[in-house]
Amino acid sequence: MNLDLHLTTACNMKCSFCGAWEYGRQQEYITLEDARAALKAGRQAGYKITTLTGGEPSVHRNYTDIIQYAHSLGYWTVVTTNGLHLTDEMLAVYRKCRTLVRVSLHTLCPRKHAEMTGGDTLHTVMRNIEKLRENKVNLGLGCTVFDKNLEETDALAEYACKSGASFIRYTPVVGIRGAESMNLEYDFFKKLLTEISRLCLKNYDLMERKTYGREYAHSITRYMLTRRCAGGSGQHIIYDCHGTVVPCSFIPESAGLCSPASDGSAADRFRRVYQNMDELLGVQQLENMKGRCGKCRYKTSCRGGCMTTKLPAGLAAADEQPVCMYSLISEICGGYDAEDRYKLENYWCSNFIKKTGASDRDKVCVRRLPVWELNFRFGADRMEFVR
Ligand code: SF4
Ligand code: SF4
Repeated sequence: MNLDLHLTTACNMKCSFCGAWEYGRQQEYITLEDARAALKAGRQAGYKITTLTGGEPSVHRNYTDIIQYAHSLGYWTVVTTNGLHLTDEMLAVYRKCRTLVRVSLHTLCPRKHAEMTGGDTLHTVMRNIEKLRENKVNLGLGCTVFDKNLEETDALAEYACKSGASFIRYTPVVGIRGAESMNLEYDFFKKLLTEISRLCLKNYDLMERKTYGREYAHSITRYMLTRRCAGGSGQHIIYDCHGTVVPCSFIPESAGLCSPASDGSAADRFRRVYQNMDELLGVQQLENMKGRCGKCRYKTSCRGGCMTTKLPAGLAAADEQPVCMYSLISEICGGYDAEDRYKLENYWCSNFIKKTGASDRDKVCVRRLPVWELNFRFGADRMEFVR
């Protein structure tokens, strides 16, 4: 139940793979009034988590007011920030509002960081990560992965664990806006997920998890990998700084699934986007599904997987999924013996249940699944992490 609120298109970094700064040349900012209206409508529609993002949300002049307003409405608030701008006031508000601060960090090499983000700022970001930890702010790291930093997956995980982050989440870059030329394929996804799984097993005692039975862990893993895209539904939606409601930040505007401010109240725009996504992925599309998706036993529940590997690449929703997460994870698990397979499935099952709150959802965002994350156990000896 996550409402992403884009506070601005402005950013104090210029990441090559992002593009938000590119379409934000005019540096648009949501008004405080509109941010409040969106948060209020989101709460009424049942969203419990809000992720404040951008651009870089912390450059919005009402940033801390918006966090506090979201907190007053009962949201669990997450902010995604590049970590460059951090003030004492922000630290105090993060603590007061129990905000999860997810800092984007894509490399530990100062030269590569400068190339990727357009500035020699890695030392500042790392100093701010340290400050967040010292101030006991709930901290996570987010890493966008592409060919330039794939080999740093393990080093970044070690850094995350040792710097006190509660998790690191990896996101393969999406070929949209600034990253149009970076469409990633199945083998890239496989390499990345294989490495995350290896690190999870190697550091299993440090991983956050409960223990479930084999059959249950296996069935939940299969379940979470074969649900319909959660974008533009009661589970996940975006409200951007122009007041446009968007199903998923990674789905191009040209797909025609958004609802602009002129469509009516925020609640009307939410409903319009739910309808657009239901039409795109509705039962009536099942007959049109192509390739292995058309023959798949899970097609009724899955409806062809994540749209970010289709729509930005010019494929239609009903086309065969180029990166079927179910096949991919089955392939990775096939490389392990029964015990390690169970450990992985138990870890995924445990974190899926913990984060979703229930296992009976009919929609899931595959890019937010625990297969992309290393969640570290509270109280674990962080120095024990091994690559
Ligand atoms: S499954 Fe893919 S398209 Fe759907 S919300 Fe997640 S990232 Fe977006
Ligand atoms: S083959 Fe297609 S429908 Fe089946 S699980 Fe994979 S993405 Fe979903």
